[in-house]
Amino acid sequence: MKSGKRIGIMGGTFNPIHNGHLLLAQTAKEQLTLDKILFMPSGNSYMKKNVLETEKRVAMAALAIAGHPDFELSLIEAQKSGNTYTCETLNLLSASNPDTRYFFIIGADILFQIEQWRNPEQIFRMAALACAVRDDYDFQAVQKKGDALAELGAEIYYLNMPKLDISSTDIRANVKNSLSISGLVPPEVAHYIEQERLYYEED
Ligand code: ATP
Ligand code: MG
Repeated sequence: MKSGKRIGIMGGTFNPIHNGHLLLAQTAKEQLTLDKILFMPSGNSYMKKNVLETEKRVAMAALAIAGHPDFELSLIEAQKSGNTYTCETLNLLSASNPDTRYFFIIGADILFQIEQWRNPEQIFRMAALACAVRDDYDFQAVQKKGDALAELGAEIYYLNMPKLDISSTDIRANVKNSLSISGLVPPEVAHYIEQERLYYEED
C-alpha cells in the first residue's frame, strides 16, 4: 500500500474547459478523498484535428481553476512537442513521485475508448480509473466494459454524479451561433472567449 498522496488527473482537450469538467473533478475529489487534482490540458492531439492553440486552452483552464485551492494546472502534456500519450505522462509522474497514488479521471465515453490508446495495460498499472457514471447512463453497459478492463488489470472506481449536458463541442457551436454560454463555463472563461473572439468562425 502506498502511503503518499492521492492525486487525481483530469485530462482533456479543454477546448474549452467547462462546468462538466469542473464538476467531474470535484466529484472525484470528494468521493475518492483525493488530496488534489491536476488539470492537464492536452498538447497537440493526434486524435483531434483543428483544435484551438494550446496556449489559449491552457489560459482558459488556468482561469477556470484559479479559485480552487485543490485544483492545479499541469503542463506536462501541453508543453510536450509531438503527440502525447497518457502512458508516457503517467510514467513521468510516477517516476518522480513514486509514493503517490494516481487516479485518472474520465467520463464514461473514455472508458469505451481507452483500450485503443497506447499501452492501456501500462496505464492501468500506474493509475486507477475514476469513471463518471451519469444518472441516466446505461450503467450496465459501463460496468460490463469496466469488468472487461479489470481483466486487463484496471482498477476502476465509479463516480456517481448528476448528468451535466455540456460538451466543448456544444459550447463552440453556441458561440458560433451567437447563443449564450453562461452557465456552461465559468464566467471568467466566457469572458476570455469573448475577449479573444474564439470560436466565432468555427467550421
Ligand atoms: P469535445 O466535445 O470537444 O469532445 P468534451 O466536452 O468531451 O469536448 P474533453 O476535453 O474531450 O471535453 O473531455 C475531457 C474529459 O471530460 C473526458 O474524460 C470526458 O469524458 C469528460 N467530460 C466531458 N464533458 C463531461 C460532462 N458533461 N460530464 C462529465 N464528464 C465530462
Ligand atoms: Mg469529448
